[in-house]
Amino acid sequence: MSEDIASKENLRLLLDGKLPGDDFKALVRLKPKDKDRFWKYLAILQERVPWNDRILLPISDHLYVVSKGAGKRVVKCDCGHEYGDYRANWKLGCLVYIRRTEEEMKEVYTVGGYPDLNAGSEIREFYCPGCLRLLCVESCPRGYPVIFDFLPDIDALYRDWLHSPLPDEAPDWYLDQTTMLAQGFLKRRAT
Ligand SMILES: [Zn+2]
Repeated sequence: MSEDIASKENLRLLLDGKLPGDDFKALVRLKPKDKDRFWKYLAILQERVPWNDRILLPISDHLYVVSKGAGKRVVKCDCGHEYGDYRANWKLGCLVYIRRTEEEMKEVYTVGGYPDLNAGSEIREFYCPGCLRLLCVESCPRGYPVIFDFLPDIDALYRDWLHSPLPDEAPDWYLDQTTMLAQGFLKRRAT
């Protein structure tokens, strides 16, 4: 077992799924937790992306909320593609493939168990326009709004939990902007 179980190197191995079993258990059970684990985690992620924007929070395996300067926080893929303001649903900026027929479902559900087509269900696959990586899949009734998975209160995280408030903290940050984005999209399409 490693001497410093919560070392940055062990976190790197954990992220890659390569941390040996005993170390994994020790790291998970560590009490008290190492206070700088989040910062070490962010540093590892930052080292791995090919761009320099500061990562504020990872929101999936490939997407991050990053700072683009005071008052501007956007969702960015590790390939570099940017989806705009993190308060609006990034899925609206994706390439989308929708599966509705039995034939389309069987391409991915090889042993059955796919959503009930008689109930009007569909599978939506969201791909990054920059790297074409599959980022998310959701199963919904047809016509159901695109699900906004996660709107983090980043200011509260940094202020109340990390005790390191962000310099551009603002009271109106934590508001869903998806409707505004959709309205803008409709206006652009109408002209
Ligand atoms: Zn990408």
